[in-house]
Amino acid sequence: MRAGFGSAALVCLAALTGAHSAQAASESIKPGVDYHSFANVADFRVRHVDIDLVVDFSARRLSGHADLTVARQNPNARQLILDTEALEIASVSWLKPGAEPAKLEFRGGKAKPILGQPLQIEMPAAAGRRDVVLRIEYHTNPKASGLQWLLPAQTAGKKHPYLFSQNESIHGRSWIPLQDSPQVRFTYNAAIHVPSNLIAVMSAAQKGADAKPDEAGHKVYRFEMKEAIPSYLIALAVGDLRFHEISARTGVYTEPAVLDAAAYEFADLERTVATCETLFGPYRWGRYDLLILPPSAPYGGMENPRLSFITPTVIAGDRSLVSVIAHELAHSWSGNLVTNATWRDFWLNEGFTTYLERRIVEVLYGQRREQMEDALGLQTVRREMADLAPADQHLAIDARGRDPDDTGTEVAYEKGKLFLQFLESRFGREALDAFLRSYFDHFAFQSIDTEQFLDYLHAHLLVKKPGAVSEQEIHTWVYEPGLPGFAVLPPADVFAPVDKARNAWLAGTMPTAQLPVKQWSTQEWLHFLDNMPDEVPRARLEELDHAFALSGSTNAEIAHSWFRVAIHNDYAPAYPQLERYLVTIGRRKLVKPLYEDLMKSPRGAELARSVYAKARAGYHPITQTSIDAIVTPRR
Ligand SMILES: [Zn+2]
Repeated sequence: MRAGFGSAALVCLAALTGAHSAQAASESIKPGVDYHSFANVADFRVRHVDIDLVVDFSARRLSGHADLTVARQNPNARQLILDTEALEIASVSWLKPGAEPAKLEFRGGKAKPILGQPLQIEMPAAAGRRDVVLRIEYHTNPKASGLQWLLPAQTAGKKHPYLFSQNESIHGRSWIPLQDSPQVRFTYNAAIHVPSNLIAVMSAAQKGADAKPDEAGHKVYRFEMKEAIPSYLIALAVGDLRFHEISARTGVYTEPAVLDAAAYEFADLERTVATCETLFGPYRWGRYDLLILPPSAPYGGMENPRLSFITPTVIAGDRSLVSVIAHELAHSWSGNLVTNATWRDFWLNEGFTTYLERRIVEVLYGQRREQMEDALGLQTVRREMADLAPADQHLAIDARGRDPDDTGTEVAYEKGKLFLQFLESRFGREALDAFLRSYFDHFAFQSIDTEQFLDYLHAHLLVKKPGAVSEQEIHTWVYEPGLPGFAVLPPADVFAPVDKARNAWLAGTMPTAQLPVKQWSTQEWLHFLDNMPDEVPRARLEELDHAFALSGSTNAEIAHSWFRVAIHNDYAPAYPQLERYLVTIGRRKLVKPLYEDLMKSPRGAELARSVYAKARAGYHPITQTSIDAIVTPRR
């Protein structure tokens, strides 16, 4: 996933170095154990999933069946436990080869907050160690947390409904009964029945639509994923979609109204894939396409294999926000190929991917752009860490009892990236690249935990140059809070000209018209706005807004940073556009800080409540959950 440069505060903080270790809370945690799944993975393993689902937009429901091929790991095990959330299970049967399907007993176990409900299935004893194929007939709940059902009015084209899934972290269980744990990998096939004027796409090879409609007149699209993936990478979208080819193996799907803008914005897609291959080895998934979602998409991007799901808020018109694409593509190596075994190990996905992303940006857009993105990333993680408990500043975090959607912070991304940067500085880029390629090869299509990575790191990199790093240094990175004092930080002066311009402007020695914004990239604008002092005179904000139309900016990141300045200073002329922004965009990292800022003053809180009352229905369930906790009703 990629959140993007969404979280900004108005002060610069000193490095959080030298903080004390606080590992007490995680002493009893068992590495490799997934505390976010009910599945008894030591007894049974799902190896293949075959789904056949009808998409019913009027009932907001998927219905049909999932056939699970299950391998018995423990010959004495009798009960298979799957993860579900709000699924209506109609029946479970054993598809015995050469015989009639045999009904199996099943029951829903005790539901738990965040995790959903276990589905307990009594397995046939006779099958020994052979695979068992089960058919589960079911339908989903209209409020399934992994699905967003959009009305035509919520789409770009306004004519057709739209559906998309977001499984990471643990929402796959809300639309498929599964072992919903990143350590269980399986292949999948799918048949998706949709209204005949819509198109279905998935994170899998497209086998095309059946020549004939089904009995209900639905078009049936078929898919096949031959590589074993974890459940959080199954993905589905249905809508009025068009495709634009960028190269023989890359292209972009969007609603027709967005196609031209997306084709322009993502024209570098093939170059991005080729760059990644040069750096980190072959791309192993066949095609790489993008699906540009409607603006309610909760994340910047989601690395669904073969088909990354992307927020339209990265379409800035000048390709300045495409690092999100580099990020999602890089997940084809770190995350999709080598996967975190549990959500404690999320940094293995995101820290590596952020490092790879910056390496790609450096090749494609130059070192200066890369350094600016590094510097913004550092600012973001420092600000976020200032509000995090020490234990949540570790790379390997204890996420037990919490929603992994909330525990995956910038620490996993930016501190994880800085850890790899540190290794690069001690061993050299060439050695680190060779190590990364061997790491991706060695663990390809496997899920691993933090300690497995550290073992491999010791055996294949640290031994190459004894003494280059100490045990204590590695420990500090992974199991201690803050950024180590020996971290290698981006050059401090990359934004110096912007700081100088801001200071002169604030002091009144540089008139607004003379701000050198013509040469500024999006990243420089963000730095300019994110580091404004707490109070800026209203007249100056008016000048800025009038000169550069910031309230109406079509760059979603710049608008976000500007709105934060406006809210801090209660600059009301920005509020109509702020409201439009919050009602249109549902990307969590962009809207959440705005609501948080608004709630800090009585007047802002009023505005937050009235805007959220209009915006909430259009938000994805993941965003709704986050904003519900911020915008409290008036007492
Ligand atoms: Zn990511």
